Amino acid sequence: MRSAEELLTELGISDPTDIQLEAIAHCVGVEVEYRPLANCEAQIVGYKDRAVVYVSTDTRPHRKRFSTGHELGHWHHHRGQSFVCRSSDIGRPIDEKSKDAERLADAYSGDLILPPFMVAPRLERMGEISLDGIAELASQFRASVTATAIRTVRMTKQPLILVAHNLLGRMWQWPSITAGRMRVRDDIDARSSSFVSMLSGSKASRARKEPANYWFDRRHIDQFDVRVQSFLTVEGEALALLRVLDPKMIDIYG
Ligand SMILES: [Zn+2]
Repeated sequence: MRSAEELLTELGISDPTDIQLEAIAHCVGVEVEYRPLANCEAQIVGYKDRAVVYVSTDTRPHRKRFSTGHELGHWHHHRGQSFVCRSSDIGRPIDEKSKDAERLADAYSGDLILPPFMVAPRLERMGEISLDGIAELASQFRASVTATAIRTVRMTKQPLILVAHNLLGRMWQWPSITAGRMRVRDDIDARSSSFVSMLSGSKASRARKEPANYWFDRRHIDQFDVRVQSFLTVEGEALALLRVLDPKMIDIYG
């Protein structure tokens, strides 16, 4: 079990509605205050075994929550120190293997807000994973759909790839463990549901089958289809969940 999960367990917290970050912070000697901040999104001022966390009031609720968790991550990993975190420091969904202090703080926040031991049984009950199911989980955990989707594809054994695009192309992708080494191409295909949802501005698309070559740049991959559902995030990026329908596609290209 990871350290944020251990803390939740010690505090007897086993339900997402009980993940009250201010109360949890208080238990580890940290007070949380929300207020306008000029040059950063969140900061922690630590001295010996006490600290104050300031979180900007100028962001969306999920983001405030993630930033609070991020500062608690700094407190866990770098107790007694102070950090000033800009928005570019907090919540980057890439390079998670990095041991950089900001990424460690992000990982801690993710574990606190979407603890794997609480997510796992819910994924089990969900059966076939869909973006609708992920959005429902996100609301239970008061987390963003993006963060919840990343947590989900990292935990599942279903053959899925989560990919984020803006109009310029692919931003990042997370394949699940069973998706092998399948990687989505760098550009965005104008026929794909992600492109269509960005242009139309529709919040969520229905899941539909699309030829795999809309997504992958591999020889003869158009013989396969993928099932795709896309979702437009509040940042205006398209998040797509791709399901590999034929295991042969992974055998050949994965
Ligand atoms: Zn930070």
